[in-house]
Amino acid sequence: MKNIIFIAPPAAGKGTVSDYLVKNYHYEHLSTGDLLREEIQNGSELGKSLEEIMASGKLVSDDIILQLVETKLQSYLQKPFILDGFPRTLVQAEALEKMLLTLGVTNNIAIYLDIPKEEAIKRVTGRIVCPKCKRSYNLNHEELKPKKDNLCDDCMVELEKRSDDNIDTFAVRFDAYLENTSPILDFYASRKMLKKVDAMTQLNEMFQNIIEEAKND
Ligand code: ADP
Repeated sequence: MKNIIFIAPPAAGKGTVSDYLVKNYHYEHLSTGDLLREEIQNGSELGKSLEEIMASGKLVSDDIILQLVETKLQSYLQKPFILDGFPRTLVQAEALEKMLLTLGVTNNIAIYLDIPKEEAIKRVTGRIVCPKCKRSYNLNHEELKPKKDNLCDDCMVELEKRSDDNIDTFAVRFDAYLENTSPILDFYASRKMLKKVDAMTQLNEMFQNIIEEAKND
């Protein structure tokens, strides 16, 4: 399978597809959002400064993100990997290209999950996540509800709402996406790496479409 770089507006379903690919296709999953939230939980100095930025919906600085990814990326290279939430700016996309070149990692595709803003709002307001395994569920989506009310199917731990999953913060996140992240689509298109997948289909269909794109030729 190819390495996948996901590009999508907030709450399009990157995390949900990633869970599926990890469980069924043995992918490694690097989510910068999860790494940043771990940093906050650890209570480090860096974590404290991140908390405010993330709660506002703005992007964390490229320097911090690149340092984080640079230290972690190497440990994700044993299997095909997913980058979820990174790159989010052109600077990050260019830096990633250099990193992958230096590491000799080829066989990469960028998958754009296409979703209208109204549907993303619906998903963000219904999202609840497992604090232990990070799996995400959705109360506004029949296929993504937990089996038992508010408990993770796998860990049986109480599910939580993310502090940035509210309508006001979503608006800031969506604008940050339009301004900073959508230009990356042209970057990957120019490198013939970009594949577009409709995120409005049934989940299973979306999974299958992604697998088709990610299969080695
Ligand atoms: P989602 O994809 O659902 O919007 P994430 O968990 O990927 O959420 O990201 C949550 C927040 O973490 C972002 O709003 C942003 O503040 C920060 N963040 C995550 N990844 C990056 C990145 N690559 N560059 C800058 N900020 C990031």
